[in-house]
Amino acid sequence: MKRTKVKAVLQTAPEGQEVLVKGWVRTKRGNKYVTFIAVNDGSTIHNIQVVADMNLFTDESLRDITTGASVSVLGTLVQSQGKGQTVEIQARTIEVLGTADPETYPLQKKGHSLEFLREIAHLRPRTNTFGAVLRVRHAMAFAVHQYFNEKGFFYIHTPIVTASDAEGAGEMFRVTTLDPVNPPLTETGEVNFAEDFFGRSTNLTVSGQLEGEVVAMALSEIYTFGPTFRAENSNTSRHLAEFWMIEPEMAFYELEDNMDLAEDFLKYLVRYALDNCQDDLQFLNDMYDKELLNRLNFVVGNEFQRLTYTEAVEILKTAKQKFEYKVEWGTDLQSEHERYLVEKHFKKPVILIDYPKEIKSFYMKLNEDGKTVRGMDVLFPGIGEIIGGSQREEDYEKLVARMREVGVPEKEMWWFLDTRRFGTVPHSGFGLGFERLLLFVTGMGNIRDVIPFPRFPKNAEF
Ligand code: ATP
Ligand code: MN
Repeated sequence: MKRTKVKAVLQTAPEGQEVLVKGWVRTKRGNKYVTFIAVNDGSTIHNIQVVADMNLFTDESLRDITTGASVSVLGTLVQSQGKGQTVEIQARTIEVLGTADPETYPLQKKGHSLEFLREIAHLRPRTNTFGAVLRVRHAMAFAVHQYFNEKGFFYIHTPIVTASDAEGAGEMFRVTTLDPVNPPLTETGEVNFAEDFFGRSTNLTVSGQLEGEVVAMALSEIYTFGPTFRAENSNTSRHLAEFWMIEPEMAFYELEDNMDLAEDFLKYLVRYALDNCQDDLQFLNDMYDKELLNRLNFVVGNEFQRLTYTEAVEILKTAKQKFEYKVEWGTDLQSEHERYLVEKHFKKPVILIDYPKEIKSFYMKLNEDGKTVRGMDVLFPGIGEIIGGSQREEDYEKLVARMREVGVPEKEMWWFLDTRRFGTVPHSGFGLGFERLLLFVTGMGNIRDVIPFPRFPKNAEF
């Protein structure tokens, strides 16, 4: 007989039909007449209740059915007598596929802290919390592709190993096959990367943007969705060393169009979660954050506040709140400032634009004032920056001038500069940190809890 997933079983009208379910035991309880076994197979946050009539089973035959054990249950689907569920399975046979010794199974008891669960990242998908988070994660990934597909954007795979270190000098992971003990040396005693696998020094990518721009100059509207790596030693609840980023890049888009897309995209994703992840979001709302659903609904239903960096600095300078870091025009805003604007001042998502050029990347388009660039950051409650983007500098001369100013190696970037030499057009794009999005949608407080196997300083065990 074919197995039915628990999610489907729970949606089936019970007419005493035969069903086969397989999954992991969450709880077992009962008395001498009957034993109740809650089985979960990850298809939904809900368990199916399996009822074992003790006229048919013995304590001995159910001995190995303990929390964490895997079982295969054959029985009939009936209306549930008890509260809390509509259907249940009257078991005919229960086969234990794998035992889980109660003495040593780490998830024997409920209610472990998220910190503890991080130490058993290989088992935490079996908890309600991580099951919910991982299902929402899947739904959001799917929605990303659906959104762009509906809009005629093409999904582009940009390289993971790159030679350009234009963006994040010093924050990159080196990729090499050279012997770390005895590397080949140049005449001046430096490691000779000409002898490395690619004949040059290479790194893991920090962003697919530059390659994305190249393809957007042919297919008009593209997006990337892949892993990115940053060796920044920031041990915060919002940074990972390996995270996933969605980077749309659009020919013929100006900053205004870019903002419209970012806002529409984020609202689409949140709406998709509300429509398709109700059970999981309700669980997360009840367990961790009673304001979660309100917040999600609020974001979907309200316009984002758009203002310039300069206006934001004025607001922050006259704010009553004491900040750890002082705000001056020209300094980068800290997370505390971003969150003040979003959570206290405007009480809604904010898009900040026109940043001082000194604190933004070389490729952003210079404004007429010569001081600011057409960058945009989308700031979200509880998170701060969720999206960073810009209109790109499409003028060859201006771009080169800017590269020289900040010391980006022109020679290595010849292929990128070619986009401005041949058929250049105004274009824009942005990067959405997938895990930052998930922080917002799930209401989890730490970015390490929205990715199955988090990578952060001193941690790559699982
Ligand atoms: P932040 O200032 O928060 O460190 P950033 O300005 O370095 O971020 P960008 O280079 O603009 O980030 O990257 C685009 C997006 O990628 C950010 O808006 C954020 O959502 C996400 N992001 C950046 N760094 C990380 C990280 N270390 N871990 C997870 N997400 C990140
Ligand atoms: Mn940024």
